[in-house]
Amino acid sequence: MKPIPFNNRYVQLGDDFYARTDPEPVADPGLVIFNDALGNALGLPDTGQGAERCAAVFSGNSLPEGAEPVAMAYAGHQFGHFVPQLGDGRALLLGQVETAEGVNMDIHLKGSGRTAFSRNGDGRAALGPVLREYLVSEAMEKLGVPTTRALAAITTGEQVAREQLLPGGVITRVARSFVRVGTFEYFASRGDIAAVTKLADYVIACNYPACRDSDNPYLALLTTVIERQAALIARWMQFGFIHGVMNTDNMSIAGETIDYGPCAFMDHYSHDQVYSSIDRNGRYAYNNQPNIGLWNLTRLAESLLPLLSEDREAAVESAKAALGKYAGLYATAWLDGMRTKTGLGSRQDDDRTLINDLMEIMNTHQADFTLTFHHLSGLTIEPADSDRDLHDLFSDPGAIGEWTQRWRTRLQAEQSDDAGRQASMQAANPVFIPRNHRIEAAIRAAEDHGDFSVFHELHTVLQNPYERQPGAAGYMLPPEPDEVVHQTFCGT
Ligand code: AMP
Ligand code: MG
Repeated sequence: MKPIPFNNRYVQLGDDFYARTDPEPVADPGLVIFNDALGNALGLPDTGQGAERCAAVFSGNSLPEGAEPVAMAYAGHQFGHFVPQLGDGRALLLGQVETAEGVNMDIHLKGSGRTAFSRNGDGRAALGPVLREYLVSEAMEKLGVPTTRALAAITTGEQVAREQLLPGGVITRVARSFVRVGTFEYFASRGDIAAVTKLADYVIACNYPACRDSDNPYLALLTTVIERQAALIARWMQFGFIHGVMNTDNMSIAGETIDYGPCAFMDHYSHDQVYSSIDRNGRYAYNNQPNIGLWNLTRLAESLLPLLSEDREAAVESAKAALGKYAGLYATAWLDGMRTKTGLGSRQDDDRTLINDLMEIMNTHQADFTLTFHHLSGLTIEPADSDRDLHDLFSDPGAIGEWTQRWRTRLQAEQSDDAGRQASMQAANPVFIPRNHRIEAAIRAAEDHGDFSVFHELHTVLQNPYERQPGAAGYMLPPEPDEVVHQTFCGT
């Protein structure tokens, strides 16, 4: 069989950056799913090579030729508290490949066994969180939100001890980079400026080559990461996505959503929604995510300070100036996206107020986030029967009725055309999101009964989130009262 065309660059940084570790074999690897399209895009010869071979490679039982597995070192601020050493405690960078377009892709196993960074952990993952990450990360991709991808999910034939014994799993995920804000903090906190420089040069070479042409490449790197994160978090907000653990070790330098743990999409809109069982003070609540983005980026800027200028004060000034742009970048990205979601074809001064008022009414009247925008997409300029679908989502239909009047007046002023607006709104407002109760049902069937059909059916529906699909109407619906998922867990 042809080898995977690895082009491993991270290992060349030297062994301060990682610990070489082979995956620990699992008892009985079984393939749940392999992402053929992604495998093809990565040029992987394993694609279509059969379930057994895939399960052997992506469980870590059989190391492919050219793989150089390492556990990456990183630090991180967890819930605001600095931890000088975290690192891949249950994950490994298997190797890197380059796509036909020349984009670097890191291939990572999660659940692959103990490493030098495992502390007291077992290095394993339970099947539930593996399935959750597979479903949600691939759904994010199809929704158009920058994200790590899922390449394979494997059952291990072993059990892992959490609060109870659970079946084990391994997920293979793929990212433009698994370098995190916390990777920079790891070296900066040790005062190892040479290593911070090396890491910055590596990220620029792998991910942001255009920065090299800038007068100050490291300031350009900081600026680019700030831009990516502002755009990313704006996207999360537009789909009601809550990451759940925005620690700096879970913030990607490549601007992708990374480390899916207790993440969740909201059903009914609540601006300070929290699902994560470990987020007791709501630090990572829905409406706090933009602020936390800036907080994390400030930690990155601090780590990069010695590289920005030899003069400390000048370095601080340029970092402040770069960080100072975040709020505006975020606000613009958010508003532009929300204009598209609400079908506003021009920019008017009071658009922000109009959109915020809608969110406020959704919040007060517990309207389903996704269905509100979906049904709004179907409305015509003249009131019609289709208004009822929207109104029925609100505990007080009158409140949304007043708002849609204002919205229609606004649309008339710009001579909005029904068909064109509906089409562009439908392309921005999904019919299907990975609803928590659906994910939960997929996990329960798999964990409790070894039945993966619920997982596969949900995954198939989420492949086309913007299109109504025959027989899939049930997947649009919010949970029944006894199906509501109140808390999510990181499963570590
Ligand atoms: P997370 O909250 O999953 O991003 O993980 C935070 C830190 O804990 C990282 O350093 C992980 O590698 C480590 N960790 C999480 N779960 C385990 C586990 N089961 N075994 C070893 N390390 C773990
Ligand atoms: Mg993490």
